[in-house]
Amino acid sequence: MKRIYTAANLPDAHLVRNMLEQAGIPAHIFNANAIGALGDLPMSAAYPQVWIAQVHQEQHARSVVAEYSRAAAPLDTKACSRCGESNPGEFELCWSCGAELP
Ligand SMILES: [Zn+2]
Repeated sequence: MKRIYTAANLPDAHLVRNMLEQAGIPAHIFNANAIGALGDLPMSAAYPQVWIAQVHQEQHARSVVAEYSRAAAPLDTKACSRCGESNPGEFELCWSCGAELP
């Protein structure tokens, strides 16, 4: 098992899982019911997560998720020049690697 995506909400998680399964990658959602328990959990642990069953499919799965993220990204984002992650337009530092954003 390998975590491939942390979703902002449950519909988001389902969309990603559906895309993975259409690509032939068995996937599962964890934390599907955790949003209601936010008070008891650290924020990052409370989001729905999409996990794939077969670790050797990770590369393929990541390309599916990248495709999804590009399609779903709001317009006001900027890409990190160091790691390529997309960040909300108001961010000054990359959430992923901490580099200063343009
Ligand atoms: Zn970065």
